Amino acid sequence: MINATGILLHDGLGRAPLSPAARTALDAAAGTCDVEVDLVTGRRGRRGRTAMTALAAAVPMARSVHVVNNNAAALILSAAALAGRREIVISRGELIETADGLRLPELLTSTGARLREVGATNRTTLGDYADAIGPGTGFVLRVHPPSYRVVGLTTAPALADLAELCAGRGVPLVGDPGSGLLHPEPALPDEPDASTWLSCGVSLVTTCGDKLLGGPQCGLVLGRADLVDRLRRHPLARALRVGKLTLAALEATLGTGDNPVRRSLRAEPAELRHRAERLASWLRQSGVPASAVTSRAVVGSDGIDDTARAGAAVRRGAVGTGAGHGGHTVYGSGPDVWESGLPSAAVALDAALAAFLRRGRPSVLGRVEQGCCLLDLRSVPPDLDPVLAATVLAAAAESGTATAGDLHALSADTPASTVPSAATGWTDPARREDPAGWEGPTGWEGPGADAGSDVDAVTLQ
Ligand SMILES: *Cc1c(COP(=O)(O)O)cnc(C)c1O
Repeated sequence: MINATGILLHDGLGRAPLSPAARTALDAAAGTCDVEVDLVTGRRGRRGRTAMTALAAAVPMARSVHVVNNNAAALILSAAALAGRREIVISRGELIETADGLRLPELLTSTGARLREVGATNRTTLGDYADAIGPGTGFVLRVHPPSYRVVGLTTAPALADLAELCAGRGVPLVGDPGSGLLHPEPALPDEPDASTWLSCGVSLVTTCGDKLLGGPQCGLVLGRADLVDRLRRHPLARALRVGKLTLAALEATLGTGDNPVRRSLRAEPAELRHRAERLASWLRQSGVPASAVTSRAVVGSDGIDDTARAGAAVRRGAVGTGAGHGGHTVYGSGPDVWESGLPSAAVALDAALAAFLRRGRPSVLGRVEQGCCLLDLRSVPPDLDPVLAATVLAAAAESGTATAGDLHALSADTPASTVPSAATGWTDPARREDPAGWEGPTGWEGPGADAGSDVDAVTLQ
């Protein structure tokens, strides 16, 4: 599939696309591999020893590391191993639910631990934590909410102050920054990272492997050796452990600083704009109405809830979109989420193409906005532009032959076999054939006449 939603880490599309190095490692690990054997001594070794070494090397602030199935597993294991039936102290402002339905309070209490909520939704002071910590405390938990911000009259103690309080009272401080960043990311100055939280004095950090790290689905546990050890030795650890494929992909991800997520994050707006203009110009010359427009991309699908998606589809009258059709939607959302996103560029097409693109080969998911189908290029690797061009052309050809009745007959429930597919000859990005004229001089001549137009002012040519 091609993710042209502009949502870099889309829950519905499997979050991080893996790097070529990670894909190669997956292939190698698919056969027989040394997941629990030390090849030097010939003895049984710690599971995933080389992946753990790579993780420890990537985060020198962590005295010890462990890897589990996902971040939710890391949290549950922390609760079981460090709190047991005792209390987890957490601010009322951090009792999160994520867009994909993970409810933190219910997850934590499912282990038998009790929550000791402190403060209020918008304000929690150091004193609130100090009053709550006692003999019944398992640990204090700090969570970075991924999907909302509390603005206005707000108070939360600095992480370093909370860490000092916890250290003084002898209780661990567990931190969940969520994003999967191991170090500060220049493109996202407000996003917390594991190393910074550890250097602030957080005892144990849990985070995701398949978000901004750009790796496979897994939960990373980083921090104090005695705490990591308690997690590793807990009986639940076996039930939450990762397979050899995950370990191989994680190790390869950590071994290279380069991956599709990082490239998407750091792509220059001017370069995205250039790609959008090139694509739109090529499509117009091939007879498909298209415009290059400015756009906003976002990191995660977390701030975009189902109501917003359904509402967007209904309000904008998109074809074959929205929760009402069940299953895959062309995502749209309220402006609030997108306005805080990363500057991007998109190719705007007729909204009626969205359903054909979704059913194309490869399947292309865009965003239906302002009556247009936007293909946001920040979430598309540049080497897929020719594939994208060919797929749009094929979808336009299909939609041109379809009558209005045919269009409305398409729904998410239509079996794929009955839907006309785009015969682009595309099988694999490495073996694709670029569409005719793609490399030709005419398709590449600078911006089209509509260059610089904004989404609000878009007119299809
Ligand atoms: C994404 C996220 C989670 C859930 O992580 P999974 O790896 O999907 O289990 C938990 N906490 C925070 C803060 C997150 O951002």
